[in-house]
Amino acid sequence: MFLDKVDIYIKAGNGGNGAVSFLREKYVAAGGPNGGDGGRGGSVIFMVDEGINTLLSFKHRRKYIAESGDNGMQKKFHGKNGSDLIIKVPLGTVIRDKETGKIIKDMSEKEPFIALKGGKGGWGNMHFATPTRQVPLFAKSGITGSEWNITLELKMIADVGLVGFPNVGKSTLLSYVSSARPKIADYHFTTLSPNLGVVSVYDSTFVMADIPGLIEGASEGAGLGHDFLRHIDRCRLILHIVDISGSEGRNPVEDFRMINAELTNYSPELGKRPQIIAANKSDLGYDEAVIKELSEFGEVFLISGAIGEGIDKLLMHITAKLKELPPVTIYESEQPSDEHDNNRADRQTEIIVEDNIYYITGDWLKKVAGSVNFDDRESLQYFQRVLRKSGVIDLLEQRGIQEGDTVNIYDMKFDFER
Ligand code: GDP
Ligand code: MG
Repeated sequence: MFLDKVDIYIKAGNGGNGAVSFLREKYVAAGGPNGGDGGRGGSVIFMVDEGINTLLSFKHRRKYIAESGDNGMQKKFHGKNGSDLIIKVPLGTVIRDKETGKIIKDMSEKEPFIALKGGKGGWGNMHFATPTRQVPLFAKSGITGSEWNITLELKMIADVGLVGFPNVGKSTLLSYVSSARPKIADYHFTTLSPNLGVVSVYDSTFVMADIPGLIEGASEGAGLGHDFLRHIDRCRLILHIVDISGSEGRNPVEDFRMINAELTNYSPELGKRPQIIAANKSDLGYDEAVIKELSEFGEVFLISGAIGEGIDKLLMHITAKLKELPPVTIYESEQPSDEHDNNRADRQTEIIVEDNIYYITGDWLKKVAGSVNFDDRESLQYFQRVLRKSGVIDLLEQRGIQEGDTVNIYDMKFDFER
């Protein structure tokens, strides 16, 4: 079983709320405020684990929620911070926003990636005493941890990708040149999951990927293969293998054309990737005319993966070629993760209650409020929907708002209705 694409839900831990409490000592009539701060929520962090090469561990678990911070306590005690949630992925996992499809992060380097920062804890009332307000009866709520629906897609990191029809000898070649041990057999599609092998040629090494054989129509998802093409998407060079002996009654030139059409169909860019042609199974005999015909498409190397003939020359050529080619593609982030961070000042909402008037402020709110026509019923209804969806109504209720109380948003006032 192999899994290389999966949708999951991640959520950062909520920040704990600040506490409201006062010092109560014998003989001290009215002690100062001593409510402690809430703990920070745990973050959601992705880390590369080189010991895994599929996303199989995500098959049965789709929700990843980091721990919340504890609330602050009296006597200035800080609430406990929530633990971070570490999610381990194979090298080469591309994290995307599920909705937009945009790339958030390509896990092609070994540094951990903080996808969602935990919500900050709220300040306890000990911070809010001023000369004119010695009895602060309020503390700040913690920030709710952000959530995100994302897609994980594994795109292996290899320098050279093997392509060709089933049974042309891709797996045989990989096991001959590396210590990888892919399954080899006489029937089609024995390779059911991609395999990586490290190939050493004198003092240089490169990584070669073996993916299941392509069949006609694979790029439309007709058979095995299409899904696996993502694994050679970032290859620097394609090693295209044909069965030159025609041992399965196939025409090597036709096969070659068909596979290339599949590559282009999947991605025009992949179709243009530099290719080297390996004419395999030469030990079974071949037709010179076919080699000549293939040579029109590129340099042809006559090899036999079974008896190891012509392989050295091929590997030397690949090594030299790789030196000229750009490095493996690492995808740029198209959607930075901090856009999803609820701790950002421009995503925050503050509520201050004075004389039963609820003053709401927040940069994002200012923008929305500026576009609302408070005399128009529909416009107002839209605004109320925004307030509900963004959690402002919940916040107001947490602060104890009652039907008929006044809400004031940047000097626009209205009565609170449920
Ligand atoms: P793949 O589907 O492209 O990975 O092909 P395999 O590596 O599984 O090989 C398919 C069959 O062809 C197996 O029976 C191999 O032993 C055989 N084979 C592979 N390479 C050669 C070769 O160079 N010469 C001969 N005679 N047989 C080969
Ligand atoms: Mg194979």
